[in-house]
Amino acid sequence: MLSEFDLIKQYFDRPAGTGPQRAALGIGDDCALLAPAPGMQMAISSDMLVEGRHFFAGEDPCRLGHKSLAVNLSDLAAMGARPLGFTLALALPAADRDWLDGFSRGLFALADTHDCQLIGGDTTKGPLNICITVFGAVPPGRALRRDAARPGDDIWVSGTLGDARLALAGLRGEVALDADALATAGQRMHLPTPRVALGVALAEGGLARAAIDISDGLVGDLGHILARSGVGATLDVDALPAGLVLARQEQRLRRAFTAAGGDDYELCFTADAARRDEIVAAGAGCGTAVTRVGRIDGAGGLRLVDAAGVALDLALAGFDHFA
Ligand code: ADP
Ligand code: MG
Repeated sequence: MLSEFDLIKQYFDRPAGTGPQRAALGIGDDCALLAPAPGMQMAISSDMLVEGRHFFAGEDPCRLGHKSLAVNLSDLAAMGARPLGFTLALALPAADRDWLDGFSRGLFALADTHDCQLIGGDTTKGPLNICITVFGAVPPGRALRRDAARPGDDIWVSGTLGDARLALAGLRGEVALDADALATAGQRMHLPTPRVALGVALAEGGLARAAIDISDGLVGDLGHILARSGVGATLDVDALPAGLVLARQEQRLRRAFTAAGGDDYELCFTADAARRDEIVAAGAGCGTAVTRVGRIDGAGGLRLVDAAGVALDLALAGFDHFA
């Protein structure tokens, strides 16, 4: 049997010199010590993944390790903060070596890609539950806040939308997908790509005003920007970039899943229309497509329109855990 301390030592406290070394003090003491560059602000965010709620029982542990950190890095990206480190609070039903091996591999592969160090955490026995807190750094006044959108701003989204939701529909048997389509869309559901480089470029370059990451569906998440900024918006639903597999589906499904799919982990951001060329260049510079999908209005809530500008009445809502 693995003791709690052996488990931490073997799977999470990596040998000296392995992986990013960003903290003044990492795993092993009562607290970790982080030293952000002088004058920088710390961006801090937690996300919890619960079995049966955020992922299916029996989910592949390597994918789960990736996704647990990815959803947290996505919050740093949405703020425009550079990752520094993270903590991991883990409840496990058993100290299963195969599970721990896969989980830690998926976790550290993504962490190392983003130069983000595991600096501490907590480990306990219990129903499978993974809680990560990430720490990042952003120059003062540059963070991409939800309350910063202004009337006349363009609305942009990164990457493509809807394939994660389509994969879920495929798994549930709501939409017929062949094995190839399900595998391709499933990548977007199981292995989301946090848009960290894009978020950092938008913030540090002063290119964007407000931003949010799209976890619960664009319409719901954009709604948070509108509410916090006290503005309205017009969203061109037919301009939304559909995922590879969703693009081949009928219009009704394309519109619903791009506008309100959930689990995309793309960025939605607003920016002055004068920054269009720089934003396209920033996207190209980090290999992430960016698409202009609407405009911030002075008031009037969120209006959904089609390519011709005609109002659409889609019955859409973001995902709410308690609805
Ligand atoms: P304490 O009792 O002081 O909270 P613990 O005995 O829980 O400390 O943990 C010992 C050390 O291992 C601490 O530095 C803690 O941050 C770290 N740690 C515990 N669990 C994890 C984990 N799942 N991942 C990374 N570090 C962990
Ligand atoms: Mg503890």
